[in-house]
Amino acid sequence: MESTAIKIVKTFWEAGFEAYFAGGSVRDLLMGHEPKDYDIATSATPDEIEKIVDEMHLESKTIPIGKQFGVILGIVHGHEFEIATFRSDSSSSDGRRPDAVMFTSAKEDALRRDFTINGLFYDPLKKEVLDFVEGQKDIQKKLMRFIGEPHERIKEDHLRLLRAIRFRNKFGFKYHPTTEKAVQDLAHLVKDVSKERIADELNKMMLHPSRARAMRELIELGLMEELVPELLQGEGVEQPIQYHQEGDVLDHLLKALHDLPDEWASIELCWAVFLHDIGKPATFELAPDRIRFDGHAEMSAQIAKKILKRLKFPKAMITKIAWLIDHHMTIALIPKMKRVHRVNLFLHPWFEDLMRLHWCDEHGSIPIDLSLYEEIMKDYEAFKNEKLLEDHYSPKLNGKEIMELTGLKPGPKIQKVLNALREAQIEGEVATKEDAEGFVRGLA
Ligand code: ATP
Ligand code: MG
Repeated sequence: MESTAIKIVKTFWEAGFEAYFAGGSVRDLLMGHEPKDYDIATSATPDEIEKIVDEMHLESKTIPIGKQFGVILGIVHGHEFEIATFRSDSSSSDGRRPDAVMFTSAKEDALRRDFTINGLFYDPLKKEVLDFVEGQKDIQKKLMRFIGEPHERIKEDHLRLLRAIRFRNKFGFKYHPTTEKAVQDLAHLVKDVSKERIADELNKMMLHPSRARAMRELIELGLMEELVPELLQGEGVEQPIQYHQEGDVLDHLLKALHDLPDEWASIELCWAVFLHDIGKPATFELAPDRIRFDGHAEMSAQIAKKILKRLKFPKAMITKIAWLIDHHMTIALIPKMKRVHRVNLFLHPWFEDLMRLHWCDEHGSIPIDLSLYEEIMKDYEAFKNEKLLEDHYSPKLNGKEIMELTGLKPGPKIQKVLNALREAQIEGEVATKEDAEGFVRGLA
């Protein structure tokens, strides 16, 4: 992809225009990370961009994805590149999107960008960085700093509040003091950002290993109050000391999220871990023996649903997250369950994530006790091996055989018999086809 990007830049120079890699890819290259995409900025106008790319003859084509803002998508060699005319945004009136853009110079284009580390250009032909904003110095100093006056830059576009926190945590940088102060001062403006974009930024933070630190910072800088105020109710809510020496409910949620192994991280599991006890404050009870949170799993699932709906998460995602939270206390019952119920859980497509949630829940607690996790996983692994050897959990008779044996007509009753047969097999009451026939006759 990089060599294709270089080819594009070269073509623009040969046609008489300036062209550079811009923004995130330059930052990533300078930090020694592999860019996930290459945006290109150029002095060519959108019409000229289309003409140049269309004439590259590299199975190339263009899509005018944001032509009025100067942005053309170029597809070259099967790779996508956002190619944009140097522009400056005239400031926005609603803190969301610019009212108009003006086509300008590379320098003006650098100055409209959000952070110094995102404001760099790179000429891959001369191997030269174009730096109008001291971005290279800030990368070296590991400093997150707005280009220009931070309060002004946030007021122009409130999404930058979330971008500041996301990038700082992703790279493990420090804030420049005025940048941090502006984020804190203007944190309340985040409520004007569209719910979809908020969710998108939060999910990007969740998918990075720095997720717990980013969530803590959203709390500390005052954004969480606007985004998920329900979480703050966990602050200062005590938990039974014999199980929870880590601190209050909020500390427990953050520690659980912190300890989540990155290879398990999916949007659903991250949110399930982060919200799994959000119903504890509402179910807190000082019983004679100890602090109790009876029914907190169900309550947490309800509150999580409300939060995620508000953030406009897709329905399927909400369903899964709420299911995981709703079931996180049933894990304690698994070892004593009837085998058929246990196996039904083992076969559930979300069972492994449920166990991961339990693992994180334990890791969120001090002392950590993984004995239940290990006991269930041992049983589960054995079950998986058994299932590989022989699939003795699918019914030993089919619908047609059942109809012949019982005289039943096609209909929902057949499915009931099949389910009963399967359960009897799992419980060990039916081992052979003859057993199965006897069992089914017995039902009639
Ligand atoms: P990522 O790796 O997350 O994609 P990125 O830096 O490429 O990081 P993008 O959101 O893809 O981020 O944006 C590309 C570039 O456009 C940024 O590097 C920045 O220069 C500029 N930019 C994006 N969003 C904004 C914004 N809200 N305000 C100012 N500049 C922005
Ligand atoms: Mg990008």
